[in-house]
Amino acid sequence: MHSTPWSSAHRLDPADQHLRDFLAPRHSPAGDGVELDVDTLLSQKYNGVVELRVQVAAFSFQNSPSSQNAPRLLLDSSTPLNGVLEALSGDATYAGCGRCSAELSTDANGIYSPCYPCLPLTGVRRYYRPGVLTVSGRGYSQLCVLAPPVPLQKILKAPPDKLHRSSAPGSQVKLIQVAAERLHALLSLPKKTFVITIRSHFLCDENSAPLSQDFTLLDLQLPTDCK
Ligand SMILES: [Zn+2]
Repeated sequence: MHSTPWSSAHRLDPADQHLRDFLAPRHSPAGDGVELDVDTLLSQKYNGVVELRVQVAAFSFQNSPSSQNAPRLLLDSSTPLNGVLEALSGDATYAGCGRCSAELSTDANGIYSPCYPCLPLTGVRRYYRPGVLTVSGRGYSQLCVLAPPVPLQKILKAPPDKLHRSSAPGSQVKLIQVAAERLHALLSLPKKTFVITIRSHFLCDENSAPLSQDFTLLDLQLPTDCK
């Protein structure tokens, strides 16, 4: 004779504090994220915003969709300043829709085709192609971090449409040279340590083996002697 049921299951009220605590992100998204090292991030397969102390081993621009098969120009500590300048002078920027940043093609007369999803808006802006930073922590593990146009512009400190303008009124030095020096300093020896903030995303199968892992750069803090 049982007067009480063995177990009970009932729907929780969405306002229930226990449910809220359970669903709440463990770290506030507005904060700086958790500080991890590269090896811990990889072994824990941590999802979320992460702060890492890293050294930058290599950098490359992602190829344009039309030259996906061309070899990617990889810049590292062995690349001279001129090589970095060459990479920035090449296919490093593109003209895209001013609203959604989709790359726009031109017709035979050099007129940009409209971005159909964004019509009637037809603004055109220049964007950096996303870059890929290869970074390492204290261990041997390396991460490839995607650098979207906006954080990339912050690193290079030069707007993508003004690379060929002078860096200061009356100066012979162009902004592209300033950007090349900043990128070169990031890669050059002796290696400096940077603090980067990334968004980490692991997609795992039922055995928690990663199916895919994505790391996107949100911010990179340069040491004061690089600013
Ligand atoms: Zn668009």
